[in-house]
Amino acid sequence: EASAKAAAAIADSGAPTIFDKIIAKEIPSTIVYEDEKVLAFRDINPQAPVHVLVIPKLRDGLTSLGKAESRHGEILGNLLYAAKLVAEKEGILDGFRVVINNGPTACQSVYHLHLHVLGGREMKWPPG
Ligand code: ADP
Repeated sequence: EASAKAAAAIADSGAPTIFDKIIAKEIPSTIVYEDEKVLAFRDINPQAPVHVLVIPKLRDGLTSLGKAESRHGEILGNLLYAAKLVAEKEGILDGFRVVINNGPTACQSVYHLHLHVLGGREMKWPPG
């Protein structure tokens, strides 16, 4: 928990993130789903048996959901639909959760918009 908070202290500087390197395949990831606009890969520090990150290949100012503008509507829809495709592929359609951590108070640590798709275990509510 302490490390998550420390990581989350990283500010939204607009600088390139590690996800750019994942998109460019300069660092390895386990890809679950990919199309022209979206990439989904396994989280390196999984919080559930299934934990996949869904990201736009072109960040286009979307360092976080809080930066969304009207023109981002299509990619936001694409990301959410890709989350469903991931859940289907992973066999968790009967119970999964999609999370977006926005900003330091919500423990966002990578400033490239990403959806967490979590499943494969019972999900508690409310999340911490
Ligand atoms: P938090 O780190 O608090 O979960 P975020 O919502 O910003 O905040 O999530 C970033 C996610 O990216 C984390 O779950 C982290 O484990 C994951 N991550 C960081 N680097 C990599 C990587 N190289 N490959 C896969 N996942 C990564």
